[in-house]
This record gives sequence, C-alpha cells and structure tokens, in this order.
Amino acid sequence: MRVQRISEKGDLQMRRVYLDHAATTPVRKEVVDVMTRYMLDVFGNPSSIHQFGREARKGMEEAREHVASLVGAQPEEIVFTSGGTESDNMAVRGVAEALEKKGNHIITSAIEHHAILHTCEYLEKHRGYEVTYLPVDYFGMVSPDDVRAAIRPSTVLVTVMMANNEVGTIQRLAEIGLVCREAEVTFHSDAVQAAGAIPVDVEDLAVDLMSLSGHKMYGPKGVGALYIRKGTKIRPIAYGGAHEKQRRPGTEGVPGIVGLGEAARLARAEMDSRVSHVRYLRDRLISGLLEVEETRLNGHPSHRLPNNSNVSVAYVEGESMLLNLDMAGIGCSSGSACTSGSLEPSHVLLAMGLDHEEAHGSLRMTLGYENTVEDVDYVIGVFPGIVKRLREMSPLARKGEPR
Ligand code: PLP
Repeated sequence: MRVQRISEKGDLQMRRVYLDHAATTPVRKEVVDVMTRYMLDVFGNPSSIHQFGREARKGMEEAREHVASLVGAQPEEIVFTSGGTESDNMAVRGVAEALEKKGNHIITSAIEHHAILHTCEYLEKHRGYEVTYLPVDYFGMVSPDDVRAAIRPSTVLVTVMMANNEVGTIQRLAEIGLVCREAEVTFHSDAVQAAGAIPVDVEDLAVDLMSLSGHKMYGPKGVGALYIRKGTKIRPIAYGGAHEKQRRPGTEGVPGIVGLGEAARLARAEMDSRVSHVRYLRDRLISGLLEVEETRLNGHPSHRLPNNSNVSVAYVEGESMLLNLDMAGIGCSSGSACTSGSLEPSHVLLAMGLDHEEAHGSLRMTLGYENTVEDVDYVIGVFPGIVKRLREMSPLARKGEPR
C-alpha cells in the first residue's frame, strides 16, 4: 500500500481519495458559514411577524431566489423539502392525487431512483394506479417516441430523470418535455444529480416539476426543493400548516434552506470551471481504467454527467474491488446494493441489458471539483494491481469463461 505522508504525530498516513460525489458531496465552507449564522444569530421562526422572524424569512426568500436562478425558475415556483426523496414523492403522489378525476395512469422509466419507483409501486399496489415503466437502450437512454406511444387519455404524469445516478446518462429531456406538452400531460423530472452539475433550465426542458437535493451540490443533507411550474395541479402529501404557500407544512428548516441557497449560488457562479475541471479528470480516469483488459464503460459515451465514470470489470465482483480500493484509501461505489444480506445487482444496469455478472462487476467513480490530477493518477495506479489480484482468485477467470 502506498504511503503518502507522515502526520504531525509521526504516523504513516495513506492517501485518501473521495470518488463518490454521486452519493454525497462535502459541504462548502461558505455554506457552513451561512448555516452557522442562521443557527446562532438569525434563529427566528420565519412565520413569526417580529423582527427575529422577519430576518429568518428574508434569508429563506433569498435562498429561494438562488435556487430558482439555478434552474431558470421564478422564486415562487420553488418549494423547500427535506431532500430529493421527498421532492420525488411529492411530485408523483401530489400530481396523481390532484388529477385523480382525469385518470390513473403514470409513465416513468425502468432506471429511475427508488424514490420514484417505490412511490409508483405504492400507487399501483394500494391506490389502483397503472404504471408504465419504459425500457432504456444499451446506453441507458429513454426514447421520446416510447414516451409518446405510451401516453393514454388517462395519463396524469410522465416522470423521467434528467441524469442517472449510477451511469450518468443524460436524457433527451427537452424532447420528452415537448411530447408531454403536445399531449397536455404533466411532466416531472428528478434532476437531483443534474442540478448544480450541468446547466439546467426548466423552460428549455419544458418540465412542470423538478426535484433537487442540497447534498449533491456541496450543500447540506436533509434539504431539497421541488420546482412547481405556476398553474400545475398538485396536492400536498402532508398536512398541518400553511407553510410554503400551503404546499408543504412544517416550520421551515431555515439553516438547511439558506445552506442550499448558498450552494446553488456557488454552483451557478462556478458552473463552467467546475464542469471543465471534472470533465478533464473524468476522461483521464475512464481512459486509465479501461487500460485494464476486459473492462467496458457503462452508460452513454458522450451524453453523460461530466463527473461520472462507471465501468464493468470482467471476472471480478464490484464489492470486492470496492473493499480493496477502500483499503487503498479510495472511496467509490459498486453496481450492487447490499440489501438484507443479499447482493442485488443494480436495476439500472440490468435495464440497460447487462447480465447479472456484468452488473455485479461494475464500479462507479464520481468526481468532484476538489479532486486533482494526482488523485486520478493514484487511482489509475492502484487499480490494475487490485483487479489482477482479484482475478487470480476468481474461479470464473481461471476457467476463462466468456461473459
Ligand atoms: N434521486 C436521485 C437521482 C438521487 O441520486 C438521489 C440520491 O441519491 C435521490 C433522488 C434522493 O435524494 P436525497 O438523498 O436528497 O433524498
């Protein structure tokens, strides 16, 4: 194992490289500073009419403006939530319930985040809705023609994510938006991975609702937003107060909200430099990883998030690579989710047509703007040795079985 430096105490320290920004990002110092101020000094309840409350409300409304600007929306179209999961739940259930007289059909894709898929499954199983799960191609793309063909008179909502969290594929969202607009069907997009990472504009994309999350864009965890286009029919999914213009009850989490606002402001201001930096690192990382024999890139070669690399490595398990990389100080993720003791291959990779083995042998590395060329070169340096060692132990590699 490569020892990088010696600490003040004299211990040998290993290099640590964080390559799991799709899971969460570190919080920016500026974000922490503004949050601290709204916990220690500006602590009023934004619903109070005295000056303590008014100051907190002012901070919250400024944050709303920053979030709206990030996606080309009006501030009054932004509702603060507890994160991407709640925003997705609110969009799907809220629109379905508001339009129950129109119909009971929802269209989504097979590669959505579970916040969408499980909400759709709930509506199917317990509320009598019908859900169409659109397939994707080998690159993880949903076809706008498939969306058009799936729309029925009873369709109340189309929900397709902007960019996939595992393989980074960016959908042809503007075309899907146009299809929905022509058919007069409400269109939601989960942009949790896209917002802050690439330019997003709700007008260009013709979306009616869009989910965002703070902790994917160097903001805090436990806060997010739902963009709701003016005039969109939606019901609240919780009750108990008139907050957020009757759309989401509960005392607003002001420190988190101002943190999200600051993160959105920084993301917008630094968009170009962040994108070009991570794209350069991503391309260097992907070409380095693919130098190892019998590896392949998952996801779209060009329509992909600038920070996402996802590769399948023949004859080895993603989890084993993950653990070995972790021992080398590298944090990333694999295409298997360890649920209740059994390793489930990723539903995204399976939907793209990979077999179980290819899905199990996948590794996702997602970069951040704080990563460096040295980080990437360190990863590329240790990766071949880890794969070699694991392949030497793999019964599949020994048999040389085709995948
Ligand atoms: N949607 C996507 C595409 C995500 O990647 C995630 C988080 O991983 C979520 C929704 C959920 O967001 P949150 O963690 O803010 O609830």
